[in-house]
Amino acid sequence: MKIKKVLLSILAILIIVGICAAIVIGGNKRTDSNKAKYKVVASNFANYDFLRAIIGDNKDVELTFLLGPGKDAHSYDPTAGDLIKIQEADLFVYVGGKMEKWSEKVLDSYDTNGKKIVCISEFVDTIEEKEVDGAEENEHDNEEHEKGDFDEHIWTSPENAIKMVNSLEKAMEEIDSENASSYRENADKYIDQIKDVDKKIQEIVDNKVRDRLVFADKMPMQYFMDYYHLKVTAAFDGCSTETDPSAKTIAYIQNKVKEEKIPVILYIELNPGKVAETIAKETGAETMQIQTLHNVSLEDFNNGETWVSLMTRNIDVLKKALQ
Ligand SMILES: [Zn+2]
Repeated sequence: MKIKKVLLSILAILIIVGICAAIVIGGNKRTDSNKAKYKVVASNFANYDFLRAIIGDNKDVELTFLLGPGKDAHSYDPTAGDLIKIQEADLFVYVGGKMEKWSEKVLDSYDTNGKKIVCISEFVDTIEEKEVDGAEENEHDNEEHEKGDFDEHIWTSPENAIKMVNSLEKAMEEIDSENASSYRENADKYIDQIKDVDKKIQEIVDNKVRDRLVFADKMPMQYFMDYYHLKVTAAFDGCSTETDPSAKTIAYIQNKVKEEKIPVILYIELNPGKVAETIAKETGAETMQIQTLHNVSLEDFNNGETWVSLMTRNIDVLKKALQ
C-alpha cells in the first residue's frame, strides 16, 4: 500500500515535470519559429515611430527600423542584410529625395509585385529647399543640389506628422485588413498626442517675445519653422554634411545673437554642441539641444522615446529660446 502511494506520487511528479518541460519546449519552439505574418520596414525614425504606434501590440507584425538609432540618414547606405529586409518586406516605407537616393536603385532592381511600397513624401505638401539665414555656402552641397529638390525633413511639422500617420495607417490596413479597426484606433490615439504637443508649442509661440531661433548647427526643421511662422539663423542648411563652420559663419551668428539679444543657441540631437558652446561663451547666451527627430540617439531609442516624447522636450527649449 505504502509502496503504491510512493509510486503514484513519483508518477504524478513525473507527469507534472513532463507537462512543464513540454510547455517550455513548446514556448521556445514558438519563439524560434516566430515567423511574423507581416514584415514592415521603415527607412527612418519618424516612419518607424509612427508605424510602431499604429501596429501597437500586434505580434503578427515585425517592424524594422532600417537606419537604426544614432546614425546620419544622409550618409546611410543599405547593407546586404538591409537589402534582404527590404526585399522580404510586405510593406516598405521610405522618404525618398536626395537623402534616400539609394531607395530608387533598390526599388528598381526588386520585384515589388504584391508588396506595398510607400514613398511617404508623396503624402504631404513638400517645400523646396530654402536658403537659411547665415548658412554656410557648401561647395560639395551645391554640386549635389538640383533646382526643385524638395526638403526631405517632412516629419518636423505636426501637420505633416498627422498626414504621415494617416497614410501609414491606410498602408497597414491594406496589408492586414483583419486588424484594420485596431490600426485605426491606435493611429487616432497617436494623432491626439501629436495634436496635444502641437497645442502646447502653439501656446508658447503665441506668447513669444521674439520670433527667431538660432542654430549653431544644421537646421533640418524648415517645415516646423514654416508651420509656426518662425524665423531662423543657422550655421548650415538642412542637409549639410559639414559640422565645423568657418570663422566667418561663427562671427555672423555671434553678431546676430548680440544684435537681437538671442537668449538660447541651439544644437541638434546626436551633436555634442561644441560650436554652440563657442558662440555662447562670446555672447552670454545659453546652449540647448533641440530635437529635430531626424534620428534618435541609442540611449533615447532604448528608453522608448517617440516623436511625441521628443517633440515634448522641445517645449521647454522653445519657452526659453523665444523669450
Ligand atoms: Zn537632413
